[in-house]
Parts: sequence; C-alpha cells; structure tokens
Amino acid sequence: MANILGIGNATLDIINKVAGYPVEDSEVRTISQSVVRGGNVANTLVILNQLGHNCTWGGVCVNDPFGQQIIADLNSYAINTNYCRLESQGSVPTSYVTLNQHNGSRTIVHHRNLPEFSFTDFQAIDLRTFDWIHFEGRNVTEIGKMLARIRQIYPDITISLEVEKPRPNIENLFSQVDYLLFSKIFAQFHTNNAALFLQNIHKFSAANLICAWGVDGAYALDTAGNISHSSAYPPSKVVDTLGAGDTFNAGIIDSLSKYHNLTTALSHACQLAGKKCGQVGFKGLVKY
Ligand code: ADP
Repeated sequence: MANILGIGNATLDIINKVAGYPVEDSEVRTISQSVVRGGNVANTLVILNQLGHNCTWGGVCVNDPFGQQIIADLNSYAINTNYCRLESQGSVPTSYVTLNQHNGSRTIVHHRNLPEFSFTDFQAIDLRTFDWIHFEGRNVTEIGKMLARIRQIYPDITISLEVEKPRPNIENLFSQVDYLLFSKIFAQFHTNNAALFLQNIHKFSAANLICAWGVDGAYALDTAGNISHSSAYPPSKVVDTLGAGDTFNAGIIDSLSKYHNLTTALSHACQLAGKKCGQVGFKGLVKY
C-alpha cells in the first residue's frame, strides 16, 4: 500500500436533495438536507484510505466549528491532517449542492473566502515517506514551486495533477508531473472529442494523460501515444454523482500505485466511480 499526500481542498458541502432540478426564480422544498465534508482532494483521500492506503492531507481550514467538523471527518478515516494550515479568519470553503433525486445530477454553487495552501506551507511537509503526491490544480504559481521542490529533492515520488477547471497558466504545470487527470468540463473548453483533446495535450506534455468522460467512461493516452478507453459501469440506479470524478481519480491512483497499466487503471477507476454513483456519499464504498 502506498503513502499518499494530497494537496487541495476540503470543504463543507450543504446538499439539498430535490425531486427535480428547479426552474429559475421558483421556490421548491428539499426532500432532505445534509451537511457533510467534501472537497476534491479530501474526497479522493477518503476513498484511497478505504482502499488501504496511508493518506495525508495538505490544505487550509478554519478554526471554527465547521472547520473542526471537516478535520474530525478526515481523522475518522485516519487521514493525517497535521500539515493543515488552520486560519482564524475567513470561512470554510462551502459548496451549496442541489442534488436531483430524479437522475443523480449535482449542481454546485461554491463560496470561497480563504487563502490557498502556499509553497511556504508545503515546505513544512516532510516528503521523505511519500510514494505519491496528488495535487488539485488550483493556485498555479505556488503549485509550480511545489512541483519543482519535489523534483529537485525526491525525483522518484510519483506526481499526479487534477485539472478540473481552466485557470490562468495551468498549462505550465503539464510537463512537470507524471499523470494529468483532466475533467470532461476542462476538455470541453477545447473540444468535444476526448481522444483529440488528449492527443493535442500530448504534443507538449510528456505526462500520461487521463480524462473522465461522465456516462461515456474515460480515456487515457500513455507517454508513447497509445490511447485506451473504458466504458462507464452504471449502477442499477444513479442516485448521487457528487464526487464521481474524485472517486475516479482515487481509482486511478490506487491502480497505478500497484503498478497496473493505464488500461487496467481506467477500467478499475470507472468501476469504482460507477459504484459511487449508485450510493449516497462515500462511506462504505469499498468493503474489504
Ligand atoms: P465529475 O464528478 O468531475 O463530474 P464525471 O462526470 O466525468 O466526473 O465522472 C467521473 C467518472 O464517474 C466517469 O469516468 C464514470 O466512470 C463515472 N460516472 C459518472 N457518471 C456516471 C453515471 N451516470 N453512471 C456510471 N458512471 C458514471
């Protein structure tokens, strides 16, 4: 099992389940409401922990009851939060999620009023023990410095970068990592063809490229330019797609850290993400 460090967000998710997606300017009642810990990297670490890996989180949180709830949840999965930067100002990043019971779709309005995890924060982490470091592609300049530090001091650590949203100059990071994990939304800013998107990225990045494609599964392009595809694995009923991409990323890291090839990793990640879509939240996703 691998020692994995994840750098990125942990959030508070306020999830309103509704019977159907509301019309603008209408008023609807929720079927239920839950307030849970979310955040891309935090979700990915929670799944990796269930898969048996030792996980550490690097990110920023607020020292208030919501922040404490977030830390307590991560600790309940035995995720090491010792490198978390605790702020006394600001508020925990909060995602207001409208979860459509009809088809499991999730619509997110995100509020953020907190500084990002910085290079200075990162320098305090003892990297020696890690096999794999996974980044959420957010504060590009600071992440660039973190990547350079890893490459300089511990070049054997495997690095993956999640590229979910377009951010200024994020392309500058593409040649500094081993695995790029793109979202469908990011790819669609360029083209609606996943294979074409990956082939275009391959022209200027030597990384292995992976792109989740929702109900159509996922695509990968290895460093030699070979493309592979896995279909999705739909559950009997799709109830909650919130965090499907984070689960997919965990499946990829899990499989690759066990030295499986990209094709196997794709299929494993799609199976895991499909299973997640059939249940609410992440608890008990993996049963030993
Ligand atoms: P995100 O959470 O970033 O929107 P995607 O929608 O691209 O992520 O989904 C990630 C992965 O989850 C896909 O590659 C697929 O394997 C799986 N997945 C997503 N939606 C479904 C679905 N409705 N049925 C089965 N699998 C799904």
